This record gives sequence, structure tokens and C-alpha cells, in this order.
Amino acid sequence: MLAFGAHPDDVEIGMGGTLALCARRGLVTAICDLTQAELSSNGTVETRRAEAREAARLLGVAVRENAGLADRGFRVNEETVAKVTAIIRRLKPRVVFAPYEEDRHPDHRLCSQLVQEAVANAALRRYVPPGCSEEPHRVAALYYYLIHGFTKPSFVVDTSETQALKEKALLAYRSQFVADPGRVTTPLNQGFLDALRARDRWFGHLAGTTYGEGFVSTVPVVVDVATWKRDR
Ligand SMILES: [Zn+2]
Repeated sequence: MLAFGAHPDDVEIGMGGTLALCARRGLVTAICDLTQAELSSNGTVETRRAEAREAARLLGVAVRENAGLADRGFRVNEETVAKVTAIIRRLKPRVVFAPYEEDRHPDHRLCSQLVQEAVANAALRRYVPPGCSEEPHRVAALYYYLIHGFTKPSFVVDTSETQALKEKALLAYRSQFVADPGRVTTPLNQGFLDALRARDRWFGHLAGTTYGEGFVSTVPVVVDVATWKRDR
């Protein structure tokens, strides 16, 4: 499982519970942050890096990388598509996750488009990113997680058992979510985690679980009938 985010903490907000659950079920998980969030109002690049490492550890994420693109400076172009394509070919994920494109932050929208382009190119035999010697790779699925957006999900992952872990991982980003003295007031440190818990609870409610993380799929999701055997 490979989840892309524009900034360290995007993936945790949208699908931290799912990644923790995947790790618990024996799947290998990875996060690739496109930027170091160097334009954030609070925290430094070094702080964010340490926070991201700790959050990944809590969620059992095996690999965390940073693509080194510029915060509020990257665009979807030949160069960035090549870079992200090379990452996908090297890590060979079965499932890729990206932010859902309806989001108030332009970097989240760009990250969504960039990953779509790279997933498509990763499968093309005749597309060779500069300096990339990896084989073409076709992912089984590309799903979108929600950061600031709210939409009707295509499916929900029951994250009831990892909700507490997700919240712990988010609190590892103290510089972002806690209004310590001297911090700049931002929407993130003014009750954001409470609002996020409410969204996770609501998605869980819609799906008949306690907590849940919602995802959007642009193609119909196949259901394994074996899962119908168990009573809820
Ligand atoms: Zn972000």
C-alpha cells in the first residue's frame, strides 16, 4: 500500500487508521510525502521531519519517503510526473492512495492530479522517466482519501480498532495540531482533531461501524462474497 500526500500529516488525516489496520493485518505500507511543508506557519522542516517519523512508527508504516518537491511551488508537469512515476515503479505498490481532488488546499488538488498521471505512466512500457531503470508497474487500484473535503465515499474502511492509534499519530504532529504558546493560530490547531474525529465517526455511522475512513473510487469496487459469511 503506497499513500501519497502533499505534506507530512495529509495521509494521517485522511487514512491513518486504514494504514495502521493494514499493517496489523500484515500488509506492507508506505507513505510518500511530496513536500516538506516548508511554508507551514508553525514548526520547522526539521520538526516536521521528526514528527512524521514518529507518526509513521506509531502506524507501523514500513517506508516513509519525501519526494522533495516545493511546498506551494510544485506543478503537474513532465518533470514531476517522471519523479513520481519512478517512485511508483521502485516501490511497486499494489494499491495507491492520493488525496481526493475536491479540497480547499491547492497542493492537495495538485497531488491528486500528479499521482493520477504517475499511476497511468507507471504502467506504460514505452514511457521511461529519466534515470529510472525500473520495470513498468501496473497498480491494482488507485483510491482517494479525504483531507479537508467531505463527500459521499465509494467505500468505508472500518477503522474502529485503530482510531485511537490514528489520533495518537496525529498528536505526534504537535507543531500542527496543538496551540502551544507562541504558535500562530491556524484552522489546524483550533479544534481540527475534534472535527476530524466527528467525520470518522460519521463515516463509521453511515457504514454501520463505530469509526470509519471514507474513500472515493472512480471505478466500481469489487466485493468479495466471502465477507458476507460473517454476521455484523
Ligand atoms: Zn496538506
